[in-house]
Amino acid sequence: MAVINRIAGFSEEMTAWRRHLHANPELGFDCHKTAAFVVERLRDFGITQIETGVATSGVVAVIEGQGEGPCIGLRADMDALPMTEVTGLDYASQTPGKMHACGHDGHTTMLLGAAKYLAETRNFAGKVVLIFQPAEEGPGGGRIMVEEGALSRYGVEQVYALHTLPGVPAGTFETTPGPIMAAVDTLHIDVIGRGGHGAMPHETRDPVVAAVAIVQGIQTIVSRNRNPLDDLVISVTQIHTGTVDNVIPETAYINATIRTFTPEVQEMVHRRLREVTEGVAVGYGVRAEVRIDLGYPATYNDAEKTAFAAEVAREVVGEGLVIADRPREMGAEDFSYMLQELPGSYLFLGQGVGPGLHHPGFNFNDAVAPVGASFFARLVERAQPLG
Ligand SMILES: [Zn+2]
Ligand SMILES: [Zn+2]
Repeated sequence: MAVINRIAGFSEEMTAWRRHLHANPELGFDCHKTAAFVVERLRDFGITQIETGVATSGVVAVIEGQGEGPCIGLRADMDALPMTEVTGLDYASQTPGKMHACGHDGHTTMLLGAAKYLAETRNFAGKVVLIFQPAEEGPGGGRIMVEEGALSRYGVEQVYALHTLPGVPAGTFETTPGPIMAAVDTLHIDVIGRGGHGAMPHETRDPVVAAVAIVQGIQTIVSRNRNPLDDLVISVTQIHTGTVDNVIPETAYINATIRTFTPEVQEMVHRRLREVTEGVAVGYGVRAEVRIDLGYPATYNDAEKTAFAAEVAREVVGEGLVIADRPREMGAEDFSYMLQELPGSYLFLGQGVGPGLHHPGFNFNDAVAPVGASFFARLVERAQPLG
């Protein structure tokens, strides 16, 4: 691996930052202590242009290069997950019910590593905007950062992010042009019938039987309405109804998650969900109220920027460790809001063997941090070369 020597030289310092962040996870928009830690490090590096409180606890910082030039944005997420860690590490989460199980401690560390190097060397033209955002795991700090001008106010022209990926060799970069992560929407259905005695169903409008039929009907959207060449997931994940065995309830509730990649498929699914649900409800003599909450849009990688990012990754880890046409994922990511505004790319960075993301045994691989930091740093130097 051709990790930048200067970055490899302070890898122990990066490990210390990462383990501090790992031990002190914060959730959602409440990333204030993490943000304070980030700001302290940035000041140590000699960075003075720092904005705090963006999207509640986000941090945006600018490193000026040499002379006039373009502006590139690098983004890391800072938030953890509401779950309890079981790693048993001596730097495990000190707060039960909060854990860095998605590697955002590593993402923040890698961007700090790049910041330290870039602030010391300034071997680039124009400027770099560092974006540390809260609430990636929900409800979408990325969107609020965009709305509050984290990109536009600084004139960012292209934007990049990394996500840790366990289960593939450490230091492997994986990306793809076009949509790499799905759009996620949430479906809620209230099935409203008429309750009554379990022994006298003829006097009721049973929402339980209707709800089961609605769920069966929804399955046909994937199997019968979708073009087989389009990717689509509709998973009904919750049905709630009833309280006791001899009462037919008044209402049943259905929830589902919907994953799509294109606005056309998304529109078709939303329309068919209403048609199927309302049609089945009529057939069963009940009423159904359908609500679809829009979540993160699809994460769309610009083809040219992704080819460029893959080239930079090859320079850092070598040809054999870069996959530039990986299959896309049905997961979702709020970096998508930044990629809706600007061209850029999202890449996965292999962590080696170990528990998966969102597993209570997950831990970011510190050996990979200098690789990610080198990638960010070279991205800047290659995108905005001097003279
Ligand atoms: Zn996650
Ligand atoms: Zn994540």
